[in-house]
Amino acid sequence: MDISRRGWLGLAGTTAAATQASAITIRMADPTGFAPAPGIAHLKYNENPLGPPASAIQAMADLARTSWYYADDAEARLAAMIGKRLGVPASQVVLGHGSSEVITSAALAWGRRGTIVMPALQFDEPLLYPMAQGLSLRRVAMAPDMGIDLGALGRAAAAPDVVMIYLCNPNNPTGMVLPTAELVAFARSLPPRVTLLVDEAYMELADDPAARTMLPLVASGANIIVTRTFSKLFGMAGLRIGYAVASPANAAELKRHRLTISLNAPGLAAAIAAWDDTRFQADSRAQIIAARRVLEAAVARAGTVALPSQTNFLFVKVADANRFSAAMAQKGILVRGAWGPAWPNWSRVSTGRLADVQRFADALPGLVNA
Ligand code: PLP
Repeated sequence: MDISRRGWLGLAGTTAAATQASAITIRMADPTGFAPAPGIAHLKYNENPLGPPASAIQAMADLARTSWYYADDAEARLAAMIGKRLGVPASQVVLGHGSSEVITSAALAWGRRGTIVMPALQFDEPLLYPMAQGLSLRRVAMAPDMGIDLGALGRAAAAPDVVMIYLCNPNNPTGMVLPTAELVAFARSLPPRVTLLVDEAYMELADDPAARTMLPLVASGANIIVTRTFSKLFGMAGLRIGYAVASPANAAELKRHRLTISLNAPGLAAAIAAWDDTRFQADSRAQIIAARRVLEAAVARAGTVALPSQTNFLFVKVADANRFSAAMAQKGILVRGAWGPAWPNWSRVSTGRLADVQRFADALPGLVNA
């Protein structure tokens, strides 16, 4: 069977053909509309062009013919694999349609009882649906260096209606990490009624993730939920697999608020294959960090600054982020415009394919003051 990297599954298929393994071909896909048009440098959504790994593509191809089954068994298998590596029973791993689904479930569940607090400059998309359902969300100002202000979050958590703090570590869009000791002390200082949700979507890309993650606190029974994803390190954003690790009680609460049968069989097959593909994971991390270095050097050459990132993106200071992203788009390079009115001159650029990152680096000096 011929499998192309960056390929999409295409089954040439009649029923008769489907009974013969040799009749299956897997075609190249980029022209199918699932990827940006040729010539577009897509540096906008913090994706990872190295993935999915070949092991995952093979697993999806093998799975295609049996995907008429619901994937319950595969779900249990992936939860067990994740739990084994992370040191918790499978029952404490809650899988989701991307980590977004588990974060949304948490917001729906906890939001019924009270207010959720989060930093003002932070990814919030999984909360949009809960907000449409009436979630009470309070945003807290950032520290002067644009990092997450744990002191301010702690003060906000003292209000009796607060039931959850949601924070991203590393944060999106800043890329910054919190000092571990401070985050641990913060977690321990929270009143028992307040659950801490730590979104670690980018943690595998940070320096020394094992020392920074809040997973050991979860394993020790703390009132913390950690979420992770296959969208970043594993390069599977389109396959929509993520998970939470939580105490038995918090995991049960999350499961009660999950969508029904939300996981897809190809995504599960890919995640199961990739989870133990440690060589791919090490390569992926190394290539992302190398691309980030190219971006950092370009920022310095252009005479501007970026926040210190431990992720697959940089938050770069420009004259006007919306004008900057429009000018970049004119050159076929897609980056983020202003995150909101309070941050008009910061643009987020992701580490995509190295050639695309190089195009951004070449264009930056001419457009930074656009
Ligand atoms: N959390 C953060 C901090 C993110 O930046 C993103 C996506 O960019 C997500 C979660 C969502 O990831 P997923 O694809 O797992 O839903």
